[in-house]
Order: sequence, then C-alpha cells, then structure tokens
Amino acid sequence: MARINPNYGKLEAGYLFPEIGRRVRVFQEKNPSARVMRLGIGNTTEPLTPTVINGLRRGVDLLADVATYTGYGDEQGEMALRESLARRYARYGASLEPDEVFVSDGAKPDSANIQSIFGVDNAVAVQDPAYPVYVDTNVIAGRTGKWKDARYEGLVYMPCTEENGFFPDLPRGKVDLIYICSPNNPTGSVATKAQLKAFVDYAIARRAVIIFDAAYAAFISNPDLPRTIYEVEGARRCAIEINSLSKEAGFTGVRLGWAVVPKALECEDGKPGVLNRLWFRRQTTMFNGASNIAQRGALAVLSPEGQKECQGLVGYYMNNARVIREGLESVGLRCFGGVNAPYVWMKTPNGLSSWECFDKMLEEAHVVGTPGSGFGPSGEGYFRLSAFGHAEDIERAVASIRENLRL
Ligand code: PLP
Repeated sequence: MARINPNYGKLEAGYLFPEIGRRVRVFQEKNPSARVMRLGIGNTTEPLTPTVINGLRRGVDLLADVATYTGYGDEQGEMALRESLARRYARYGASLEPDEVFVSDGAKPDSANIQSIFGVDNAVAVQDPAYPVYVDTNVIAGRTGKWKDARYEGLVYMPCTEENGFFPDLPRGKVDLIYICSPNNPTGSVATKAQLKAFVDYAIARRAVIIFDAAYAAFISNPDLPRTIYEVEGARRCAIEINSLSKEAGFTGVRLGWAVVPKALECEDGKPGVLNRLWFRRQTTMFNGASNIAQRGALAVLSPEGQKECQGLVGYYMNNARVIREGLESVGLRCFGGVNAPYVWMKTPNGLSSWECFDKMLEEAHVVGTPGSGFGPSGEGYFRLSAFGHAEDIERAVASIRENLRL
C-alpha cells in the first residue's frame, strides 16, 4: 500500500502567492476599470542581449548539423562553461577548480536539492525573513516539526531586523546547516565581508555548513561588498555557493545556474572531498545536465561583450529600484535595500500589518507588492517591492503611490 510523504501535510506555504492572486482577483471584480500595477514578483521582463541571443542561436545551429550535434553531455556541465565560471571566481580572488563547479538548471532547484546530501538529523538555521524554498524543502525532508505560531518547530529562525541591519546575529545553540542569501531576497540587504567572516568562523569551529545563495550577486555595485562568499578567508572549508544567470542575464525562462561545492568543505562525519563527491553522485543520479543550448547562452553571458551588455540589463533594473526607493521616501515611507539589490523592503506605514498594507496599496494605489510576513515572522510589518518590470510601469506605479496612497 503506497503512502504519501506526511511532511507535505506540514507545509503552510503555497499560501503567499495564491492569496495575493485571490485578493487581486476580488479587487478587479469590484473595480473592473482599475489598472493594477504589479511590483510583486521577482520575474525579469527585459529581452536577452544581442551577444547572448547569438550564443543561444549558435547552440541551436550546432544541433542542426550532424558534424556538431550533441546529445547528453556531462551531468555537471560542459567543461568550457565550468572553466569560465571558475575564471569568474578567480577574478574575485577565489581559486576554484572546474570540478568544484556544478552547472544546473537554476538556483531554485539547487537550493532546494542541496539539503538532500545531508542527514535528516541536521539542525537547520534560516534568515528570517527568507526565500521560502530553504524552509519548505527542509520541511518536506522532515527536518522540522509542525507549523505553529507562524513558524516551524525545530527550525532555527535568525531574525533580520532594522536593529541588526537585516543581517542576523550568529545562531545560538547547535546548528548544522545555515542558509544565507546575499544580496537578500526579500530585504535587499547585502552582507559585508566582516559579517560573512563571523559566520564562516562560526561554521568552521562547529563543522557546520553554510549554504550561500548569491543569485543577486550581479546587482552589487559597491566594490567593498563581497560578490561571493569565497572572498572570505576560510569559506572554502565551510560553504556551498549557489548562483544563476536568471536575474543577471534574464535567464529566468532559459534556465541556467550552478552550485559550487568545494573539495575542502568539511563536515562532522565526512573528510574534505566527501560533500563534493556526494553532490556529484546526487546530480549524476537525478539530473541529466542543463540544456546544451542554455550552456552556449551562458558562455556568451560570461564573455567580455556579454558581461558588458548584462551589466546594462542589471543597471536598468537598478534604476527601477532607485525610482521606487526615492519615490516612496519622498512621501515619507521608510525603505531599506534597493541599492545593491533589486528589492526594496518598505516599513509599513502607521504600524499596519503586512497584509493590511497590501490591501491599502491595492485599493488606494492599485499597486501589488508582497507582504513581508509571507517570508517569515520577522517580515511582519514590512512590504517587498520588486524592481523587475518595465521602467514605464514602475514609474507609473510609483507615481500612483505618491498621488493616491493616503498616509
Ligand atoms: N534564490 C533566490 C534568493 C531567489 O530569489 C530566486 C528567484 O527569485 C532564486 C534563487 C531562483 O533562481 P533560479 O531562477 O535560478 O531558479
């Protein structure tokens, strides 16, 4: 008799975005002529750049000729791409071998699957608020208890608040796996080298592993802020890094990411090299490689011309972030993030809850954002606005907030 995985029954999530959709539908039914403006989702809107399109076309052309056609490739990605990614890390002063880089179809699958190489008895710590994938995949794997009082029993929440600059203090008690996302979704905060160093030292001392999500690294313009955790001394001994071209190059639909699992990585019951081998084993068993067309596109993104063009794309979204932040601040709203990250984390006005703020924004300004409480208990009282969108739509939404939000 087949039985389901009972951990799915613990999941509270899947609530946030469906509930946003439900409220928007109800609003539109009551106000059919209102034009709702969406700043809620982190989805890219601008076309791929010319060099990248040429790279993808080249990938298609290679498949059209019997002399250059390729079928399955290495599960961990083409050597040329892994070498190119390793060279990018070298530019940040981090020396990696190509077989420490595993190409994938994105940062979401990697950040979801990486926990599977660790035992179910590991204690997990997450930033609060956090990208929901880290929490939900550990719930499904059975590393938490039940959902109670807006949190999962057994999960360590590391509050990210205005007081600590939205970067957590070191966790108290025993913690084995630590998820850190910088630049952060949803708060838009970026960890400094010193902040990451404290976590690296903590992890090395306890043989804990940091899972570092750098999906928004390309949005950092301040040269003093680390674009990879491997800029921090010792990180190769304790950190796995996940990244992707989704936001940097508009690959949200193309799908191309990577995980770095250093051979020097240590853990309690595995000698250096073991976690690298386990991830190799996991990927070769459960994944058949990223699309060869997407990998051609990725090589084009990483070329000097591609990098220049993608910086233009990032600059476009960061200008949107500036417009949002300045616009909200001009009417007295308190904002965080949005400087080296494409998310603006707004404090709700007049002590409103995140959902009350959502309703107010929708009803008065016709703007959709994301209630901060959907990302964790410390997100209550905040509201996330995404800079991904066409500039004219962002400007219209900000103008509507300025003119119509009753503060
Ligand atoms: N990690 C974070 C923090 C994200 O916000 C997102 C997407 O919004 C992802 C990963 C997903 O990236 P990908 O498109 O590469 O799966």
